[in-house]
Amino acid sequence: MPVLIGLAAVLLLGILLVLGVRTARFRPEPIEAPPADEIPLDGAAAVEHLRQMIRCRTVSAPEERDEAEFERFRDLLPRCYPQVFSRCRVERVDSTGLLIRWEGKRHEAPAVFLSHYDVVPADPEAWEKPPFDAVLEDGVLWGRGALDMKNQLCCTLEAMEYLLKQDFRPERNIYMALSGEEEIMGPTAETIRDLFRQRGIAPAFVLDEGGDIIDGFFPGTDQTCAMVGVGEKGVANLHFVAKSAGGHASVPTKDNPLLRLCQAVTRLRSFPQRSCPALERMVDVMGRYCDSKTRLLLANRDVLRPLYYRWLRRQGGMLEASSRTTVALTRARGSSVGNVIPTEAELFANVRMLWGDTTESVIRRLRKEMRDPGIEIQKSVCADPRPDSELTEGWDALRSAIRATWPEAVVTPYLMVATTDARHWRDICPNVYRFSAKAVTGEEKATVHGNNERIRVENTLRGAQFFVRLMRQL
Ligand SMILES: [Zn+2]
Repeated sequence: MPVLIGLAAVLLLGILLVLGVRTARFRPEPIEAPPADEIPLDGAAAVEHLRQMIRCRTVSAPEERDEAEFERFRDLLPRCYPQVFSRCRVERVDSTGLLIRWEGKRHEAPAVFLSHYDVVPADPEAWEKPPFDAVLEDGVLWGRGALDMKNQLCCTLEAMEYLLKQDFRPERNIYMALSGEEEIMGPTAETIRDLFRQRGIAPAFVLDEGGDIIDGFFPGTDQTCAMVGVGEKGVANLHFVAKSAGGHASVPTKDNPLLRLCQAVTRLRSFPQRSCPALERMVDVMGRYCDSKTRLLLANRDVLRPLYYRWLRRQGGMLEASSRTTVALTRARGSSVGNVIPTEAELFANVRMLWGDTTESVIRRLRKEMRDPGIEIQKSVCADPRPDSELTEGWDALRSAIRATWPEAVVTPYLMVATTDARHWRDICPNVYRFSAKAVTGEEKATVHGNNERIRVENTLRGAQFFVRLMRQL
């Protein structure tokens, strides 16, 4: 017996030693500082261009949409960027799309930059400054679209204009694809993607809006990180529908369809947790900066799976959502009056799928768990998840341009839990990245689609310099 105890103790010590060594090795990888190159761009002029863009009320909402404002925005661009609009080929696509092609030294495997110039509505009553006046105060520019995403659009064009003025010719063709209906999920982005398909052009690199440069995002460290989305979840809108004969509310029936739906959804269980390449890549980069306790867990997560998943659950929010398919109930519909049992009731669910699940597999699982064959599951908007990007072409250029522009930031891949236009491009390009070239605080980020959207204008100069560095390397 003492021999067995002794053996167990030796084994335990051995295991602890291995975990400890792996933790000690799980340290930030040395990153070479990129050369500090001066890019004498005119930051003040860039900010003025951005202000003019914000003053165009390109609001995407059926009742507020004013096509003349969209036209005004498109007319503004050639005045701000005469080199781009005289030396590149500019094509109109659908009613709001613009496709700009800057010819490089070779034509195959181009790079594509995506942007949208429409914005969500803003209620002036709820804002501290008027949302479309582009008020600039203490280095902060207020306005709808300042973050989402006219700044990025402006920075991309500033970079092209700057490089064209210097007669720079990119290694490969560079496209910029603009859409004016991203916020209402209009078809332009897909139409432009289809144009590439029809013309047999296979991009090697696509960049859309996405992650920011942000402090303290990852638990266990306050390291600044530049978050680059290398994958995104799929989305499905599902309608759970139940029917009955209805009746007067004074005589309740067991067959009340709203009641049946409520009972059925309480039987639903969370989808099992699992990991995905984008999440693992982020943990592998950011985990190295964590305190020693967190590092012990994350360095050994392959053998401590249950503890790792519990850690992700405890963080909640985006980290937990990155580790499973999620279902959120968002709307309910029943009787139109208070004293009538509905003849038809509906619960509306928004599903976000991890790679590996599909709308059909999710519906099968939900149907089984609800255990009520009388409930119909209908689907409306659906986009099954695409595989993560491969991080082959363009990743090093992207990382090095970010590092040169924001040396304080560690570049980390991550999984976007929301949906972007970039998903359409994953079908024709293995390297689709989602990165918004700006540093924001959590508070500023929360103004996207909310009140008081604003940006620190130092971002405009830095963002434009970032695009210059990137375009030079692509
Ligand atoms: Zn956007």
